[in-house]
Formats: sequence, structure tokens, C-alpha cells
Amino acid sequence: MPTEIRNNWTREEVLAIMKKPMNDLLFEAQTIHREFHDPNAVQISQLLSIKTGTCPEDCTYCPQSIRYNTDLDAESLMEVNAVIDQAKAAKKSGASRFCMGAAWRSPKDRDMPKLMEMVKQVRGLGMETCMTLGMLTPDQASHFAEAGLDYYNHNLDTSEEHYDKIITTRTYQDRLNTIENVQNANIKVCSGGIVGLGEEDGDRAGLLMQLANLKQHPESVPINQLVRVKGTPLFDEEPVDKFDFIRVIATARILMPKAAVRLSAGREEMSEEMQAMAFFAGANSIFYGEKLLTTSNPSENDDMALMQKLGIKPLIPEGVDVSEAEHNPCPIHGIKQEHGVRQEIESIPVELQELSEAKAV
Ligand code: SF4
Repeated sequence: MPTEIRNNWTREEVLAIMKKPMNDLLFEAQTIHREFHDPNAVQISQLLSIKTGTCPEDCTYCPQSIRYNTDLDAESLMEVNAVIDQAKAAKKSGASRFCMGAAWRSPKDRDMPKLMEMVKQVRGLGMETCMTLGMLTPDQASHFAEAGLDYYNHNLDTSEEHYDKIITTRTYQDRLNTIENVQNANIKVCSGGIVGLGEEDGDRAGLLMQLANLKQHPESVPINQLVRVKGTPLFDEEPVDKFDFIRVIATARILMPKAAVRLSAGREEMSEEMQAMAFFAGANSIFYGEKLLTTSNPSENDDMALMQKLGIKPLIPEGVDVSEAEHNPCPIHGIKQEHGVRQEIESIPVELQELSEAKAV
């Protein structure tokens, strides 16, 4: 029987799934994953900080808040040309989606023309576009939809109950309102949370329940592991138990079968084995590139080597042009997409063969 897509989960049901014996949980998540997705494909996004630091909000995990002393070099909004240069480089290195993030409470109307131009020009490169700029009004969401924005990221971060221990400058309802504005403008939603904010299991279940009970599930669900940055109030938080983190990924996969579940921040602290387990649990999207806004990420070469070991290929969304990508051909299967059709290419790129040999030492 096909898996039913539900929007009426209770916290108890979600907790019961999350607490299943690990083998049962992974089996169920992998079974659902195979029903809705290619089990050996991972979507690759690249994230650029287009405006860094001096954010007025007080998110206690974030080095970009003006309230915390984190030695961050603040930068004003980038020029369109500079952003497009970065998008071209991301495309060349194999990313199919380019995400642009600004450390704002919400975008100012005076910045909207520039932001819309960024969306139009990145789209013009044949990439999917995503922005994360804080809260959006219905009007702003409509403008971005007109510019061709594919995804808007706005995380719920944690459960409603734990939320005010993490952020006080905007409410949980503010976040839900922005998600609703984005969905009403027919822009796809990217929304997830962070594991490691001092929350209980019930809060993790509460976060996933909120996401899975949205009238339409987010198309993309980033699950982040807290990156503890010196100077932020959460710097001394206990590290997350690895298996608990995998349980959150698997539960997200079971609750939101169609979503791309993204193994997001914190990957640099995860072993290859842990990342492989996350892919088995249903993660099928990653950020690629050595920086995630202001924190570090595994190098592109490490990612390519891991994907090669696991036989995972990059997922190329419909309509995305990867003809200029140097890394997009799958190093295992040698499959490249041209003009919307997957085609075999002749051989594994030499630099990837060398990389693989170097890694095997
Ligand atoms: S997470 Fe976003 S809104 Fe919160 S302080 Fe950081 S940049 Fe600002």
C-alpha cells in the first residue's frame, strides 16, 4: 500500500517513531525513501552569505547576531555582479541550486530591486535559486515569485515550547506567518531546524510535528547539528549524540516522504560513517562548498570522495543546466545530464580518479 502523506501528526506519534529500535527506524525510513526518491542520488546546493553579520536578532546559536562577540567580519550587501561570479563558480563545481543568505530581521524595501536582480540572473545561469533573508511580507514574497525565486528558506529552529529559550526577538508565529506568505506566493519552502540547542526529545518531535503538519510539507527540510561558535550563548552546549541526530533525520523522512531532507550545518564534525548513515536514514540533500554562511563545511573534494565511495550521484533537478559543471558527472556511474536527458559519459574524470586513489591511502 502506498505511504499516506499526512498533516495531522501528534507529538506522541512522532516520539514513538523517533524512539523505535534503531534498525526498525532505519528500515522504515529507507523503505519510504525508496518509494519516493532515487536512493543513490543527493541534491547539491551551495550557500553564499550576501550580507554578513550585524543582525539585530538574538538567535543564541548564531555568530552573526550583533549582540555576541564572535570576531566576525561584517560585510554589507554584495553587488549583483559579485554574487553572479560566485554562482557561476558554484555551478562549475557541481551545485544545482544557489542559496543566498543575508543576516537581516527582514529585507528592506530599498534592497528588493537588487535582490530580485540576483534571483533573475542566477536563474538565467540555469540554476535553481533559494534565498534566506529573514521574515517576508506577502508583498515581498510576491515580488520574489515574479523574479523567479524557486525556494525560500525560513527555519522553525526548534519546538514551539523550547523556542523562547533560543530566540526572543521574533515569535514562533512570526516564523509560521513567513512560511505561509511564501507558500501563498507559490514559492517552495525550505524549513527545518537545529539539533543541539539544549532541547529534549519531545522538542525534536515537536519541531518535526510542526513541519509535518503545515498545510503543505516543506519541499526541503534542512536538519542542522549545532555548530558551537565561541562567543555565542550556546557555545558550551553538550554535543549531540550521533544516533539521536540520525533518529531526527529518519523521522523527518518518515513524516515528510516527498521532501528533500538536507544534511545541513555541522557536517564538518561528522565522520564519513555518520554521513553515510544519515543518507541511509533518508537525507538526500547537502550543502557543498567550504563555507556555510560563516561556519566551515567539508571541502568539495572530501564530499566528492565520499560520494564516490558510497556510489551516490548528484541529483539534477528538471530544467537545471549542468553542462558547464566540472564535478557534476557522477564519478561512479559516469552519468551527465544534458538538455534534460541523462546521458552516459565516456570515462570517470581523471582528477576524481586521482582523488579517490589519494583518499584510499
Ligand atoms: S540566525 Fe539569522 S536572524 Fe538569527 S541572528 Fe543569525 S542572521 Fe540574524
